[in-house]
Order: sequence, then C-alpha cells, then structure tokens
Amino acid sequence: MRYYVKYTRGIIAIGKTRVNLDSGKLKDSIISQIDQNRHQLSEIARNIHDNPELGFQEVKASTWLTRFLEENGFSVKRGIYRLPTAFRASYGKGSPVVAFIAEYDALPGVGHACGHNISGTISAGAAVAARLVADQYPGCITVIGTPAEELYGGKAIMAKRGAFTDLDAALMVHCGTGNTATTHALACQNLYVEFFGQSAHAAARPERGINALEAIIQSYNAINSLRQHIRSSARIHGIITDGGQAANIVPDHSAGEFIVRAAENDYLEVVKHKVLDCFKGAATATGARLKYKWDTARYAPMRNNMVLARLFADNMKSLGRPIAITGSNSFGSTDMGNVSQIVPSIHATVAVAPRGTLLHSPEFAAAVTSEEAVDGLCDAAKTLAMTAVDLIVSPEKMTEVQKEFRGGE
Ligand SMILES: [Zn+2]
Ligand SMILES: [Zn+2]
Repeated sequence: MRYYVKYTRGIIAIGKTRVNLDSGKLKDSIISQIDQNRHQLSEIARNIHDNPELGFQEVKASTWLTRFLEENGFSVKRGIYRLPTAFRASYGKGSPVVAFIAEYDALPGVGHACGHNISGTISAGAAVAARLVADQYPGCITVIGTPAEELYGGKAIMAKRGAFTDLDAALMVHCGTGNTATTHALACQNLYVEFFGQSAHAAARPERGINALEAIIQSYNAINSLRQHIRSSARIHGIITDGGQAANIVPDHSAGEFIVRAAENDYLEVVKHKVLDCFKGAATATGARLKYKWDTARYAPMRNNMVLARLFADNMKSLGRPIAITGSNSFGSTDMGNVSQIVPSIHATVAVAPRGTLLHSPEFAAAVTSEEAVDGLCDAAKTLAMTAVDLIVSPEKMTEVQKEFRGGE
C-alpha cells in the first residue's frame, strides 16, 4: 500500500509507525537511467581522455562536463573562486546538500594516467541520475568541478576560499585496480630549494669556490639519515633539478624539489622542520646560501567518513560488484583530504584496470578507455547516486554522518 500524503524527506508518520517511502524504487530508476546514459557518459570520458589538459587548463573537459549537466537541468556557475576551469552545478532545493566532486586534469607526458577522465564523468553521471531523488524530496544535488588535482592541489585552494563550507556530504570515486570505499592519503607539502655558491675553476682555484652542488648532496644525504628516525608512515622524497653547468666549474647554483608527507597534520609540521634543518645544516657546512619555499598548496590527510563508506559499499555490493571498505596500504596524497577536513567525505575507488596496472603509467592511461573502464564508470555513478538517495530519503543517515564527523562516534 502506498501513502500519497504530504511528507518530509521520505518519512511519514502513521500513528506511532514511521514508514520509509520507497527508496528501492528510486534506486532502480537511477540504475536504468545510468544504463540509458552509458553511451553518452562513455563518449564524454573518451573525449576528455583524447584531449588531455593539465591543471588549470581544463577548458574542454570542464566545458563537456558542464554542458552535460546544463542540458540535464542543472544550473551551472563557471569560473568559481577565481579559477576559470572550476565550476559548481546544482539541482534541487533545500538541504541536505549532497556534493559529488569532479576531477578532470591530466598528467604531463602520460595524459589521463590517473583516470580523471573517468572519475570526473562518474560524478556528472551520478548527479544527473540523482535528480530523481531531488525531484521528490527536499535536498540538493551538486557537482563541484575541482581543477588541477595533480599539479597544484586545486581543492586545497578552493577550500581556503570557502568552496565546500555549505555542503552536507562530499563524495567522489577515483580510478584504480580494485573497489574500495575509502582511501588512505597522507598530508603532504612540496619544498623548493636553491643553493647559491661561488663559481671558480674547479682545478686551478678550488679554494675560491663555494660548491652549491655539495650543499644539495649533503642535504640529500642528511635526509637519508633522517628517514630512519621518523615514523614509518611519513615519507620524504625528492629530486635534484640543477647540479651545475660544467665539470671544470665549481657549481655556483643548485636546485631541488622535495615532498614531505605524514599521516597527521601535526606530524607533517614536525617532519617539515627536520627536513629544513637538513638544508640549513648543509648551508652552514658548505657556505652556500639557502633559499627555500614551501608550496602554497598543502594537502591534508584524508579523513574518511565511515558511515558514508558503509552506505557506499552496500550500494556497490547491491550491483553485484564486490568491494572492500579499506584498500591496500597505499601512501599517496590527494587534495580531497582538504575537503574531508571541512565536510564529511569519502574518496572511494573503482576498478577500471587489471590488477597490477600502476597509476600514473602509460598502461593505466590506455586501460581507462576500455569497456571494463566504462563498466566501472557506470557502476560507480550508480553507487554515488544511490548513496545520495540514502542520505536524502533518510535524514537519520545524514545525522549519523554528521555525528561521526563531529566526533560523536
Ligand atoms: Zn594522480
Ligand atoms: Zn588522481
């Protein structure tokens, strides 16, 4: 029996009995809508793949995604927070505001080897299907288009400018070789260093030279010594980008780029301080002058909301796709971490490539055009949209999500 009465968020009260309206039917409709959109979603992902654009240059990718959303009734604001390729697309009214986060930037040299052509399209496809729930219940479906994940931490910049504060939940699915509902990601910040010395003839007047290459090599070795005395979850790695011009000239300039990561925000600061001391010590030892700059983008660790993760996993399982709550003990970083500090979030993973295929490799870039990748795209979009149904139809689920976020569990 159906109760055609005025209701709020899917719950109607009949005497003392609360009856959930049929979210199962909504989910069925979402599944068939995404199946109908499969070809179009696959084409968008393929076009983005075949036209790889680096961070903050994703003009085509953001145009294709926003056009798809606009054609399906979303109101779209482009160029938000002073970033020309960022966008926000919204559908529905009131709260909760459930956001799907879209990435669409490529990598230098290897194109879409991180699969953002798929993950961005997953969020757009999920949002269009999730209109069905926003048509019937109070709540808003939003896609936040976040550029430059790979090179500049676009979400970190947007977070500083207030982009995520009005959301109730933020969800996205990244590409991978397995299905997981959470991601382990470290806090992370890049360090750019230069040493300035004095050039001199390396054989005739070595005593007049100040060797900037020695300074950076000593720093590198000091970091190697430091590494055995920091927590095992922390990471320090780097490259030397300038080591001199000619073997018979004492190098008067050297440069390098290093990345420091840690599982906790506080500990990242501790390790950053220790790493900087390695460079300062080498400057003292060699007499070279140190110049350094921490990147303005600082990636925060990923804070997975386990209520969201369990809902996501249950929905994906219902499609017949096996999924684990936690994945491999991977130690990357993502600017979704910054979002997860502000709003309850998940950064799930869907399998689009065979096990063993490495992210950021040409093999991964090739894999994300396969039919298996399109299957992953559609299943992930269905799962996100079904999770939005759970959150919008059942206010108590959203309360649980918020409670965990505020530390109530
Ligand atoms: Zn990547
Ligand atoms: Zn990525």
